[in-house]
Amino acid sequence: MRQPLVAGNWKMNGSRKSVETLLNGIKSGMGEVRVAEVAVAAPFVYIPQAQSLLDGSAVSWGGQDLSTEAAGAFTGEISPGMLKAAGCTYALVGHSERRQYFGESDDGVNRKTRAALESVIIPVVCIGETESEREAGETFSVLDKQIRLGLEGVSLRGPQDLVVAYEPVWAIGTGKTATRDQAQEAHAFIREQLAKALGSDLAAGIRILYGGSVKPDNVKELMAMPDIDGALVGGASLKPEIFAEIIHFGA
Ligand code: PEP
Repeated sequence: MRQPLVAGNWKMNGSRKSVETLLNGIKSGMGEVRVAEVAVAAPFVYIPQAQSLLDGSAVSWGGQDLSTEAAGAFTGEISPGMLKAAGCTYALVGHSERRQYFGESDDGVNRKTRAALESVIIPVVCIGETESEREAGETFSVLDKQIRLGLEGVSLRGPQDLVVAYEPVWAIGTGKTATRDQAQEAHAFIREQLAKALGSDLAAGIRILYGGSVKPDNVKELMAMPDIDGALVGGASLKPEIFAEIIHFGA
């Protein structure tokens, strides 16, 4: 009942030329058999290019962040309405790089999540523990806090309105992946917390993606786990032939 989603996070990478090559490669790599819905989170300046190359295709696009504000004197910000007008379906919210380098707090994540929902953008709310938090046995308390504060007061029309990405910080861009059992344990816990925050009916239908060094050779075993509903892919989403393999779960 939960359609898997594979989303590429390009981070701050790309040029007009490489974006064209990448998007054409992803479109041709999609093939006829679609096991997963596919999306890309592009740097803001490449969103119009994504819109013109992907419009009418099976690939959706979105931003990597968004403002809490609708318009006004907020230099450097991009509003949810602007993303919507550029055809975005999704926006990443609270990626660990934004939490780590730009001081994004759970309260900020909460306000961005609500702002996205108000503009009918699906927030992909990213959560995950650092290596030291995992070593200190704090993984579940960190996830609990990020969900509780990040989703406080959020109301959804249905489970399709929200995506959560579990991204253990120690696995992002490091080549270290959570084992499928570690990931499943965290995803099952996240679903329980979603049930407390939003009700069990919604929680049962919300997609929880795994992110952290997903590659063609580990995607299949991760996707076989009951609470893993897709992948958020960083580095490997920049290479069309590799991303195409991930879309097909390594087949
Ligand atoms: C990410 O940026 O969300 C990510 C998971 O990166 P990577 O796949 O490179 O670890």
